[in-house]
Amino acid sequence: MTARVLVVDDILSNVKLLDAKLTAEYFEVETASSGAEALDKIAANEPDIVLLDVMMPGMDGFEVCRRIKANPATAHIPVVMVTALDQSSDRVAGLGAGADDFLTKPVDDEALLARVRSLVRLKMLTDELRMREATGKSMGLLDPAETLSEERPTGQILLIEDRPESAAWMSAALTPDNQLLSVETFEEALVRVREGNFDLIIVSLGLRGFDGLRLCSQLRSLPEGRNIPILVLVSAGDRRKLNQALEMGVNDYLARPLDKNELIARVRTQLRKKRYADRLRQNVHLSVEMALTDQLTGLHNRRYMTRHLAALLASAAGSGKHLAFLIIDVDHFKSVNDSFGHDVGDEVLREFASRISDNVRGIDLACRFGGEEFVVVMPDTEVTHAWAVAERLRKSVEATPFAVSRAPGTLNITISIGIAGSEGPTDTAEALLRRADQALYRAKRDGRNRVVADAA
Ligand code: GH3
Ligand code: MG
Ligand code: MG
Repeated sequence: MTARVLVVDDILSNVKLLDAKLTAEYFEVETASSGAEALDKIAANEPDIVLLDVMMPGMDGFEVCRRIKANPATAHIPVVMVTALDQSSDRVAGLGAGADDFLTKPVDDEALLARVRSLVRLKMLTDELRMREATGKSMGLLDPAETLSEERPTGQILLIEDRPESAAWMSAALTPDNQLLSVETFEEALVRVREGNFDLIIVSLGLRGFDGLRLCSQLRSLPEGRNIPILVLVSAGDRRKLNQALEMGVNDYLARPLDKNELIARVRTQLRKKRYADRLRQNVHLSVEMALTDQLTGLHNRRYMTRHLAALLASAAGSGKHLAFLIIDVDHFKSVNDSFGHDVGDEVLREFASRISDNVRGIDLACRFGGEEFVVVMPDTEVTHAWAVAERLRKSVEATPFAVSRAPGTLNITISIGIAGSEGPTDTAEALLRRADQALYRAKRDGRNRVVADAA
């Protein structure tokens, strides 16, 4: 794995030491000797992780960390405090400033590399989402950055611990702010994750009954567990187990004896990151949906219809079933725009889309093909039946004027419809569309407000 690491320390020998260790492991290393320089370099050349000294003249590490985390453009970058301070209160202050972890000097090589690798790997997952999300950014989606600045996030936590006294201690530390469910066995943990909606899973690696690491790996492979952060509880000094856990993709850890404030700080960090990733995922999902949906009417758009029609045709040909295809066009729609304005035209299109939806079945695919043209694909339907449906729609449009927000309050609208049916395995989407279009052309030519089926 290669990644860009920014090492920040005011003492040159410290910088050189970390630089050498990381470069030997093929990380790209950049350095800064003050808080201000660090912030400049982060803004100019977004690193994948920052190793940050706490005690520096001028701006100290806590303040630098706070600023990184307060800026929506950089808040997702992991920060590890590297410091000679080793009181629990120092760690809590660092975590409270938004740091992802704390390493004490002199830095143990193995611990350093294991943590840097794990945080960079975790960041890559969100980077991928961030990138996809950026594509949909222009569409006015939810702001994920907001969730990274949430100070005291709370959530639903699953604790897997088979020592009652430890479970009781955790419960006292984490509730009532959070909802905590405590389980003792492997099987129950898997069942709960499958059915529950947890924001964080805490796994003790010192379980009497079973192997906590194996459980972590199983949780990671469950679809329902994949996106839930895992925090493990390890015995002080059990470096080997901790490294394995980090290697496996566990998000964070806490060493025994457990410190309540540190636990709370680490839990908050994980909840914050989970919210952020959830928001990103939601935005990606929304933008995919928006890319396939027509914004004015909420129907599928032409892009979606074109992709999906080929699959529907193939399935019809494979099963020997019929498929009917309708093109529906509003008559003299241009004069609606010309007489009443484009907004009223839009109202008519929206109302028309909802009338189409009301007249077709759930399995029929209704789309706005463009402008005032709509398409309905009807699987497992013969042309004669499609014709009856089309005729019903035509009559209902003709019979019931469209309500609009401007005088005269209602408009009389008519539509023309062209229909074609699929013609076996050699038929193509283009040919089907062309036949339906020709039928529509005849409907228009013969006076509009009518349904015409392709002669074939
Ligand atoms: P015909 O009966 O032959 O179909 O005549 P028409 O006037 O309906 O057809 P034409 O294709 O000449 O005009 C379609 C009009 O639809 C022109 C265009 O400005 C308008 N239009 C296309 N998209 C939209 C839209 O999203 N909103 C509104 N209000 N009008 C649209
Ligand atoms: Mg028209
Ligand atoms: Mg038209």
